[in-house]
Amino acid sequence: MNLNDKKVLVVGLARTGIACARFLVNRGARVTVTDMKPADRVAGEMAELARFPITWELGGHDESSFLTSDLIVVSPGVPMEHPLLLKAKSAGQEIISEVELASRFLSVPLVAITGTNGKTTTTTLIGELFKACGRHPFVGGNIGTPLIQATEAEVPADVVVAEISSFQLEWISSFRPRIAILLNLTEDHLDRYLEMETYCSAKARIFENQTGDDYALLNLDAPLVARLAPLLKARLFPMSQKQELVEGIFHRDGVITFRHDGKEARFPTADYLLKGSHNTENIMAALASALLSGCDESRCGKAVASFAGLRHRMELVRRINGVAWYEDSKGTNVGSVVKSLESFPGGITLIAGGKDKGGSYEPLAELVRERVAHLILIGEARQRLSRALGELTDTRFAETLEEAVAVAHRLTRPGGVVLFSPACSSFDMFRDYEERANRFISAVQRLDGDRS
Ligand code: ADP
Repeated sequence: MNLNDKKVLVVGLARTGIACARFLVNRGARVTVTDMKPADRVAGEMAELARFPITWELGGHDESSFLTSDLIVVSPGVPMEHPLLLKAKSAGQEIISEVELASRFLSVPLVAITGTNGKTTTTTLIGELFKACGRHPFVGGNIGTPLIQATEAEVPADVVVAEISSFQLEWISSFRPRIAILLNLTEDHLDRYLEMETYCSAKARIFENQTGDDYALLNLDAPLVARLAPLLKARLFPMSQKQELVEGIFHRDGVITFRHDGKEARFPTADYLLKGSHNTENIMAALASALLSGCDESRCGKAVASFAGLRHRMELVRRINGVAWYEDSKGTNVGSVVKSLESFPGGITLIAGGKDKGGSYEPLAELVRERVAHLILIGEARQRLSRALGELTDTRFAETLEEAVAVAHRLTRPGGVVLFSPACSSFDMFRDYEERANRFISAVQRLDGDRS
């Protein structure tokens, strides 16, 4: 793809937009960056591009730029149905996402991970496995560093591991992972996708351009994922915790078994630091991708065993008076809270709520009835949560996260667990899930041992 002297419009000026603009200018393109936010609200972002010749269209968009550019590069935050994008599309303009742009310039194998939950954990672990086996992975995408930066790395990577969100798969046309992983599909982002079906189709696009030379890793235990198997063009490499597989990776009785082309490798999981059946799924996906990429079995086994997981995903904050306090601020949708609740047999005080995403809380009902002794609700979503779950257990409202922590401290009996797993995003009360996590951790650290 030759970008020299091409007129390119970058839509959206955040981390991804900055990286794209820089990349495009370096390739000789004439770049315009547009964002709805006015210049004074993106001053920091503009400063990062200060030494690049860029035309700015801020505080709104200029329709003619959408209709006269040679190429439009869209950041993941911009909705696909944006009227100017639709207009440009019907005028025949080429519109691509950042991951599409990046993939056109990558010459090393790409391992791409998507799903509703577990993406960051799996992506990070795959990177660790490659490193342990002497490879030089670039780990990026939705996880942090934009994928386009893989093309600019000082030490060229020999494999790219990319976490991919459904938003990044909008506007792809040739994005083709050597290994594509779909971990699970449960309700999320229904505030942006009107229908579950549209959300699932967006995720399934990760397989769209694969061929018989590539692998598609599907979690057969997730019904909405398994139904995609007959539609694949890539070689199916299935994973399961329910069935034994002749070709694929499966978990049974504490052992993960990888079977491929008549060979078998076994990984006993008892000593793994990463716990929980959802993490076993993530581990299986990671092991399969590393082994299918030719990594050494015993090095992979050692690297998995010592991987302790990531922050803000079911972290034990502290034990007070026989009560264990867990912070799971990254539990931002119902599917992940299901997994978190499944990790404890009962006696749970669940603190949940935040910004509602429009999905159903019904999948939590049975677990709440069986395992949650007290439900403390915060944030914008608390009324909806209360309507769905409030009848099933002792339910209370709190005005702030700190108040929720104080109520939980008063109510939870020794031997119990306080779990902060919001099932919602954080943007109603916090900057992001990390700030929300840190506020919870500080409130818990401040508690004293006196329960009264
Ligand atoms: P993502 O990047 O997809 O948001 P993370 O690895 O950050 O995923 O994990 C987010 C939350 O999802 C965690 O708090 C955890 O409770 C839950 N989770 C992790 N892996 C899985 C999985 N394979 N299936 C369901 N839930 C999971």
